[in-house]
Amino acid sequence: MAQDDYYQRLGLARSATPEDVKKAFRKMAVKYHPDKNQGDKQAEEMFKRISEAYEVLSDADKRRLYDQYGAEGVKQAFGGRGFQWTDFTHADEFSDIFENMFGGGLFESLFGGTRRTRDGGQRGSDLRLDLEIDFMDAVNGVERQIEISKHVHCSDCGGSGAAPGTKPAICRHCAGAGQVRMSQGFFTIAQPCPVCRGSGRVIEKPCHACAGSGLVAQQKKLKVKIPAGVDTGARMKVSGEGEAGTRGAPAGNLYVILHVRAHDVFQRDGDNIVCEVPLSFPRAALGCDIEVPTVHGPMLLKIPPGTQSGKLFRLKGKGMRNLEGYLGDHFVRVLIETPTNLTHEQSELLQHFAAACGETVHPQSQSFFEKVTRLFSKS
Ligand SMILES: [Zn+2]
Ligand SMILES: [Zn+2]
Repeated sequence: MAQDDYYQRLGLARSATPEDVKKAFRKMAVKYHPDKNQGDKQAEEMFKRISEAYEVLSDADKRRLYDQYGAEGVKQAFGGRGFQWTDFTHADEFSDIFENMFGGGLFESLFGGTRRTRDGGQRGSDLRLDLEIDFMDAVNGVERQIEISKHVHCSDCGGSGAAPGTKPAICRHCAGAGQVRMSQGFFTIAQPCPVCRGSGRVIEKPCHACAGSGLVAQQKKLKVKIPAGVDTGARMKVSGEGEAGTRGAPAGNLYVILHVRAHDVFQRDGDNIVCEVPLSFPRAALGCDIEVPTVHGPMLLKIPPGTQSGKLFRLKGKGMRNLEGYLGDHFVRVLIETPTNLTHEQSELLQHFAAACGETVHPQSQSFFEKVTRLFSKS
C-alpha cells in the first residue's frame, strides 16, 4: 500500500514545494518515458503512476484534498470519473516539458487522441501544413506568410454556443455532473450522460452564427520564421494555432512541415554542400584559378596542374549553417570536359599534341594498363 502514496511515488516528503514536485516528476518522467522504454509494460505502468501522482500534487486544490482525504477524496471532488491522464497533459507547462524532451506526439500515442477537460470541452485538433521553400531560404532562413483554414471561437457567442444573451444551462438529467450512475445489483456503473453527452451543460437556444458549436471556420494569416539550416522533413511547431478547443479547452497546435526545393547548382549532403564545376582539359592540365559558386557567394579556387576529372576540392566552413549554428564545408567536384566541334586547325594541333605525348604521363591510363597487364600475366 505504501507505494500507493502519491508522495512516495515521486520520492517526495509531504513538505515538498511545488517546485520540488515538478523537479521530481521531470526526473522520473525522463527515466520511465515510454519513448525510452519501448514495449516495456512495467515502465509504462510506472509512467502512468507517476503521472497520476503529479497531476494531483501539482495542483494546489487537488493536493489539499489528497492530504486530507486521500485519493478517494480527490476523485469525489473532481467529477468522480477517476483520473484521466489525458486531461492534464495539455496543461501548457506539462506538454512543453515533453515537447522539449521528446518532440511531442507522445500523449496521442500513449493515451489516444481524445482530450477532454472537466467541463466536457475538447482540446482543438492539431493542424498540419506542408510548406515548400527555396534552397537558399533554407540556407539563410526566411520569414514566410502562411494561410491556414481553421476553426476559431465564434465571436457572436464567445465560443459558448448559446445564443447571445443566453447561457448554456446546467443539464437537468445529470445535474451538471456529465455522468449518470446506474446500479446493477452489487455494482454501480458510471456512464456519460446521454442528454448532454458528458458536458454537463445543455444549450437551449443555439447561437445562429455557429449553430451552437461555438466554433466558426476562418482563414488565418500567420507569419512563421524559418531558421537557417532546416532541411526537408523539418517540423516546426506553432503553439496554439491549431483548431480551437471547445468549452474553454485549449487550442491545438499547428505543425509546419518543410520541404526544401532542389537547387540547380548546389546539392546538400548533411551540413556540406557539393557543387560540380566543368573544367576544360587544357586548364586542368596546366592548372588555373577558377571562380566557384558557394552559398556564401563566389570564391576563388586554385586548380593545381594535372588535376583529374572527378577530383574533390574542399572549401572549409563554406557549406551550410545548421540549426545549431555549425558551418559545414563546401565541396567542388571538377569535371574535365572533352571539347566538341573542333575546327580543322584545332584538330591538327591536337594531333600534333598526341604525337608529342609519347613520354607524357597520364596517371589514370598508366595505372589502368598496369592492372590489365597484371590480369593477363596471371592467367
Ligand atoms: Zn456562436
Ligand atoms: Zn447531462
